[in-house]
Amino acid sequence: MSVDEATYRQVLGAVCETLLPALDAPSADPAVVDYYGRGARERGLDDSTLAAIPGLAHHVREAIGELAAFLAERHFPAATLERRSVLLHLAAAQDMRLRLAVRQLKNMVFAGFIGAVDESGTNPTWPVVGYPGPPPGPAAAATALPVVSPEVGTFQADVCVVGSGAGGAIVAARAAQAGLSVVVLEAGPSRDEADFDQIDAHASEMFLRGGSLWSDNGQMGVLAGSVLGGGTLINSMVCLRTPMEIREQWAAEGLEGLAGSAFDRHLDTVWQRLDVNTESTVYNANTRAMITGLAACGHSHERLPRNSTATDDPTRCGFCNAGCRLGCKRSTLHTYLQDAVDAGAQVIVECRADRVLVEEGRAAGVAATLAGGEELVVRAPVVVVAAGGIESPALLLRSGIGGPAVGKNLRLHPAWIVTGAYDQPIEAWSGQIQSAVSFDLTHCESDNGFLVESLTLNPLTWAGQSPFVDARRHRDRLRGLPYFATWHGVSHDHGSGEVYLDPDGKAGVRWALDDEIDRRVALRAHLELARMHHAAGANEIFTFHWSDLRWRRGEDFEGYLNALRAAPTDDYTAFSAHQMGSCRMGASPETSVADGWGQLHDVRGVWIGDASALPSAPGVNPMITIMALAERTAEALVETARSGVAAGRSAATS
Ligand SMILES: Cc1cc2nc3c(=O)[nH]c(=O)nc-3n(C[C@H](O)[C@H](O)[C@H](O)COP(=O)(O)OP(=O)(O)OC[C@H]3O[C@@H](n4cnc5c(N)ncnc54)[C@H](O)[C@@H]3O)c2cc1C
Repeated sequence: MSVDEATYRQVLGAVCETLLPALDAPSADPAVVDYYGRGARERGLDDSTLAAIPGLAHHVREAIGELAAFLAERHFPAATLERRSVLLHLAAAQDMRLRLAVRQLKNMVFAGFIGAVDESGTNPTWPVVGYPGPPPGPAAAATALPVVSPEVGTFQADVCVVGSGAGGAIVAARAAQAGLSVVVLEAGPSRDEADFDQIDAHASEMFLRGGSLWSDNGQMGVLAGSVLGGGTLINSMVCLRTPMEIREQWAAEGLEGLAGSAFDRHLDTVWQRLDVNTESTVYNANTRAMITGLAACGHSHERLPRNSTATDDPTRCGFCNAGCRLGCKRSTLHTYLQDAVDAGAQVIVECRADRVLVEEGRAAGVAATLAGGEELVVRAPVVVVAAGGIESPALLLRSGIGGPAVGKNLRLHPAWIVTGAYDQPIEAWSGQIQSAVSFDLTHCESDNGFLVESLTLNPLTWAGQSPFVDARRHRDRLRGLPYFATWHGVSHDHGSGEVYLDPDGKAGVRWALDDEIDRRVALRAHLELARMHHAAGANEIFTFHWSDLRWRRGEDFEGYLNALRAAPTDDYTAFSAHQMGSCRMGASPETSVADGWGQLHDVRGVWIGDASALPSAPGVNPMITIMALAERTAEALVETARSGVAAGRSAATS
């Protein structure tokens, strides 16, 4: 059954008001009265949510339509609040698509409630939930890179690089330094220190799909950068070298020299260019609590190396996933992109590559669209695809190249988040986001396992993802935000997902927790993180499972662990900040997209220069690995292109 427009709007408006109804306030404080007393409708969040739905991914729009039909059949708008709450839970229990629809609407309503800011950069709920938000004040001096004004027409270059993130920036720099003419196309905007106000609602413009990309089944939230500098501008600066066991595996899969000094050299180069160090790493209260929990459970930890040059600023560092205001993050903006521009590369932003052009079986350039809809073509005999683990395979699929493995083998490092509430304030948004790691559980399930790392607390995510029992409990619980310590298990995936093209021609992500080893690692991560919180003195522990799996002090803790063990697989919710492997390098054109040096098996002149080229997941935060592989690919590309460019030019002009 599908519903007419009026019913659709009526039902979805009622869903918003069920998630965020007007409630009696527990005190007469005007801010508290406002927090509880105004519901979604009075705040205009029903209209803003409905207005945003057409911009969502195809599968999410469809799921929301199915939810509207399901609820309309059950006379949802006319039901009491209590009954509507029950019906929402019933829908979410029916199947994963309806659950995805509820999840998406919940995210949007709570993003508006707790995330939207007024002209002064604050939100009226923040004093009530104890969140200070990022401080106003001067940002570091701007370091804007010169970007070429978007212009319609045809460019000519030796090398066209698609994407300016961890991988693309390096290949662009090395190619330009080798004397090749380089054009970089970046879909995202150009932003720097002068632009960052660190407010999450504003920072979403720097994330792929505004930070709201869900796998088909809604079980995996995918986060990636989409801005000049890609993920390096908004990431948490954890720098870890590729583990030797992974390098050996990849060498055996056809990546020559990976296990030896040749690759050490690339790792060292990246390490130095990014100024990676441990001297400026400082533990915040969140990480100190994690270290307490680790130690109490008999686990070790290490101070994390980071690509940051300054010392700590507790008032600003916790908001660094919305851009570094201090200018100390050594993103590609300050390193390799600067090198590329200094060597003559041209950078065009807000320019989406649509297709790789192929002529006579070889790369011929890129067809792209500017933000205003104008078309642009870069003719180039060498094309570097570096649009990230999600968008690179989508570009190849749209271009009809890359062979049968394009989009397959997607690795995501599923991250499992467990939160503890403590008696004393933690303020997990205060201080450096990630500063310590434990490797002790990286092989807890055969060769796979997870890293233990802390993460910052962002009210939008916690409001959107914390289990929803009913509206009052949800709103009450958000008032505990300052007391939450938040840690995650970043798992080394054994199974894989897939990138495909949806009916809108956009990248979709298929992923399920259906690999037995991944399932065991996921459970183990929840159990161990819960044990650590318990040992560190938490008075309450909860997860991001769909069901409310929560332990409170005084309750049976072993019983809680058993409840985690009994949770159905569908109940798990993961996040991925690391998307890799979807255009993997390897020896076989059947199971890999590029050869062992990064050049496509089926179209010469097209190279993969980003995370999608990784043969599998490295099992550690991947930026350094991606960059070192990009250094290696760039070297091979420059060598090959120097001879190929002349042939490409004559082909283009003949
Ligand atoms: C919140 C967050 C925290 C993270 N923290 C860490 C960390 O602490 N340590 C770590 O090692 N890793 C971290 N990562 C991951 C790391 O940043 C990424 O793995 C890395 O940036 C990926 O590099 P890439 O070159 O593959 O793609 P990206 O850096 O994502 O760059 C791809 C670029 O291509 C652009 N693009 C996409 N499609 C097109 C198109 N069609 N045309 C033109 N341009 C296009 C995108 O806009 C993007 O800017 C984090 C990621 C996130 C999201």
